[in-house]
Parts: sequence; C-alpha cells; structure tokens
Amino acid sequence: MNGLRMRFEAGELSFREVFEVSSNARRSTKIIDLEIYYHDQVGYGQASFPPYMVENREKNLEFLSNLDISRLAYPFRFAEIHQYLDKVSPVHRPAKAAVDMALHDLAGKLTGQTVSNYLMLEPKAPLFSSFTIGIGSDEFLLRQLDKAGEFPFLKIKLGAVSDYNRHAIDLIRRHSNLPLGVDFNQGLQDRETAIRMVEWLSGKGVEYIEQPMPVASEDDYLWLKSRSPMDIIGDESIQTPQDIINKKELFHGVNIKLMKCGGIYRAHESVRLARQLGLKTMLGCMVESTCAITAAAHLGALFDRLDLDGSLNIADDPYTGMRLEHGRIIMPGGAGTGVRKAG
Ligand code: MG
Repeated sequence: MNGLRMRFEAGELSFREVFEVSSNARRSTKIIDLEIYYHDQVGYGQASFPPYMVENREKNLEFLSNLDISRLAYPFRFAEIHQYLDKVSPVHRPAKAAVDMALHDLAGKLTGQTVSNYLMLEPKAPLFSSFTIGIGSDEFLLRQLDKAGEFPFLKIKLGAVSDYNRHAIDLIRRHSNLPLGVDFNQGLQDRETAIRMVEWLSGKGVEYIEQPMPVASEDDYLWLKSRSPMDIIGDESIQTPQDIINKKELFHGVNIKLMKCGGIYRAHESVRLARQLGLKTMLGCMVESTCAITAAAHLGALFDRLDLDGSLNIADDPYTGMRLEHGRIIMPGGAGTGVRKAG
C-alpha cells in the first residue's frame, strides 16, 4: 500500500509534581498519540489538551476520525495539507498539530534530513530554554529553583493573589539572580492592578510579563502596553496567525505554540508574520511529552525566546527526542523530528 495511513489513540500523561497556574492545578494531561505511515516509514505526532484551552479531546478525536488521510498523496505539500485540514474543520488545532508534526517527521525521514534542515532553519548558535516554576508553597518554589540548576532564565507562574505574587518573587530573588519572566495566565482582573504589578515587577529584574489579564480585556491591553516598562507578551490571546494580525497593537510580543496554531507549518507562518510586524517572539509548549516539544524545537532558530521545558514534568515520557542540558537544547539528530518511542 503506497498512500498515507494514520492511526491514533487517546491517552493520559502523569506529572511528576502537581502543576498549578492561576486558573487550575492538575497532575496529568489528556493527549492523543498519532502515527502516520508512508511506505515503510512512520511519523510521530501528539496532541495535548490543557484544561484552559477551548479545545477538547473528544471533539479532536472525532475530527481525526473524519479525516481521509489517504487522499494526501505525499507528506510534503503542507499548504495543500493544511487547506484540506481547515476544510474539514476550522478549529481542532491540537489534532491538526499532531497530524502536521507526524507529516513533517515523515517528510524529513523520506528526504534524509532533520526537520530544521528540511525547512532551512538549522540554528547557527546553541539554543537555550527557560525553566518554568508553577504556583506553590515556599518549599515547592525552592525545590523547583534547585531543579532549575544552571538554566539561564526562569519563567515564574503567578496569579490573582497579589500577596502570593510579591511573596513568590521576593523568595526567588533571595535565592537567584537569574533573569525572570512571569506568566499570569489571565490572572489579573483589571488594568490598575496590572500596571501596579508591572511596575513592582520591573524593579525585580523581570524582563517580560505574559498574559496578565483575560483575553477579552483588549482595551485594557492597549492601555497597559503604552505604559508598561517591560514587554507584555500575548499567549492565550494569540492562537492563530490571524490573531497576530488582529491583535498586534495589544502586545509587544507573542507566545507561539504548536497546539494553539495547528503545528509546525502554522507556527512557522506565525513567527514570520510576527517578525514582519515588529513583534517579539517566544516559542512555547504545553506540559506535554518530548514528541510535541521536539517537533516545536526544530523552529527554535527563528524565535527571540524559547520556553520548551514542558516535558520535564512528565513522569513516564513515552518518547525520546530533544533534551535540555542546563537549559541548552540538545536535538536528537537523525532524520525527521528525531523523536523515537522510549524503551
Ligand atoms: Mg503562558
């Protein structure tokens, strides 16, 4: 059989530690594992579903069941492939990301190149990721700080409670001089609270602040951006390339993730667009396995900041691929994404 064939199944990944952000705390994540076969090659993909995303796994499974992947003659024509995926559904982007990364994996394997090579994006210098610290007790924060070891940059999750926010940053500052970014995951409710927080944080060596207010607060973002001494980065507000165009005035930069935009092809399109519009760029991930994070890392050379530590909290990672050594991204090598089944 020469056409493309696909199989997928629902699964769940357990975390090593509870991961708490402003909106929720959880100890596992729902996923879909996916494989696409072409001749004797297989490409790996994965979709993940954090609870704060609008997408749900059951609908994404339904979307995958409705795809006729055998109508795609080759795993190469990504514009056509995404046209087809978007025709079947305008949303279901985590499932599209899984299909897209499996096809990129195949395209690399069939041409004998890594994905970054295939896309002519081979990094010229080493790339580094930040280390993310969730919300928690003093003991938890210090333990995470210890785990961060020699990472060059920390990203701290903060939330709605001002006392916690100040206490957590002061505690971290007593133990670390590393540059910091903070992520509120929409936790601050109004612009006055946000500007007070931004001004306080700017005195603490914080370099950027991610999604401080809810997605709907567009006027408040415009107001905050014009007054903020540090970069305001849009994450939940920015899902698709079109969002980057529509909301370019609201943020200094955007956090681009495969699960939000629908895979490597759309993330590539998003980062080129963001750069053309003069926005700062961050490549992020969900808490998810090495499969999806390695796929994303192939685009790393195009971004100002990388936040790709999401698999460190996975207890039993089903894949091997990219590793982090003191924050430095070590790609697995080998054709395609380089992702392999573990064990
Ligand atoms: Mg974020």
